Amino acid sequence: MNILVVNAGSSSIKYQLIDMTTEKPLSSGIVERIGLEEGTITHKTFLNGEEKKTKEVFPIPDHTVGLKRVAELLVDEEWGVISDPSEIQAVGHRLVHGGEAFTKTVVITEEVKAKVKELFPLAPLHNPANLIGVEVAEKVFPNATQIGVFDTAFHQTMPEVAYRYAIPNELYTEMGIRKYGFHGTSHKYVSEKAVEYLGNEKAKVVTIHLGNGASMAAVDGGVCKDTTMGIGPLNGLIMGTRSGDVDPSIIFYLIEQKGYSVAEVSKILNKESGMQGLTGDTDMRDIEDRYMKGDKTAILAYEMYAYRIQQFIGKYAAAMNGLDAIVFTAGIGENDTIARSLVCKNMTYFGIEMDEAKNAVRSKDIREINVEGAKTKVLVIPTNEELEIAQQSYNLVK
Ligand code: ADP
Repeated sequence: MNILVVNAGSSSIKYQLIDMTTEKPLSSGIVERIGLEEGTITHKTFLNGEEKKTKEVFPIPDHTVGLKRVAELLVDEEWGVISDPSEIQAVGHRLVHGGEAFTKTVVITEEVKAKVKELFPLAPLHNPANLIGVEVAEKVFPNATQIGVFDTAFHQTMPEVAYRYAIPNELYTEMGIRKYGFHGTSHKYVSEKAVEYLGNEKAKVVTIHLGNGASMAAVDGGVCKDTTMGIGPLNGLIMGTRSGDVDPSIIFYLIEQKGYSVAEVSKILNKESGMQGLTGDTDMRDIEDRYMKGDKTAILAYEMYAYRIQQFIGKYAAAMNGLDAIVFTAGIGENDTIARSLVCKNMTYFGIEMDEAKNAVRSKDIREINVEGAKTKVLVIPTNEELEIAQQSYNLVK
């Protein structure tokens, strides 16, 4: 069975066609610059152990035009990997916000779409684009079952003490203001891999997803108990351009003292803060180069980045009353030896002791990088959100 995984943004569509017998992609790609003068489609195929890539540049006025071309490419004589679109039995959609309505993956019905629409105010940048992706896929792949996998679903098991904010009750009961959390698909995938690796279903694991966006989760026996992102993705860790936790008084201070609009403050905290705000660079590889050269600004930023993660490890060890493993994942978690090393420094109280030689090894496999006999395992587990979406979709249609 083949499952097409679709992640639709406001001006892009990422896709991956996964063969569920091998759990490997047959093809992947991205449609970009939708609605601009010139759009692009970068399309890759993986057949017989060979990777091939093509790029097309042409006006892509809307998502329908983009996804139709993807459907053509998937069956194309030269660039195709299947002979007919009907060979795609299901389309698994990444849907960002499921609110309290969705605690697991669902087959998308009219009712589900209406609910996703109701949640637009909670995810104004993501849910509308995600829904367009669903509606376009229904037209382009009418024979496939459309499935919704929510970023928030895995975190729905958090207890009320963890997800409520200490603000007037009616803001929760009437407006749904609470912690939801994101990156759930990744936290679920890597925490399950960790449990499998440890051979302990009851393991208390802290998952640390460090990409451009970053978040952590406390996963106790496979159940999410807490996470660092909140009602939106701005909270918690220091990220590429987002501040993570700050004193909310900063917002009022900027509005009152500088006369900034709400939109301006939002831009500062979402796009101009985090590593970007601290160093002027967003990409960790650039900041890593500066760190290695002894750049004081980069060193401070790295130390702040790691300190925040250490604090959450402490919080989550408290939340779970124990800690068996921490798991690094995503672009920075999987590749950045400095970030991992700083996070594990002076954490022996939590049983964390890193083996620097193991930390320095580059690999795409699951690996253990703690010293022999350490109480808490330090694992690096590559995430695969597309495969997780495909597996969950497969479980509903097989
Ligand atoms: P997202 O999916 O959130 O866009 P990724 O998980 O791809 O992000 O992570 C992107 C981040 O990973 C970037 O900051 C990038 O610099 C970092 N990264 C990727 N490879 C490396 C590497 N070899 N060393 C350090 N950082 C890396």
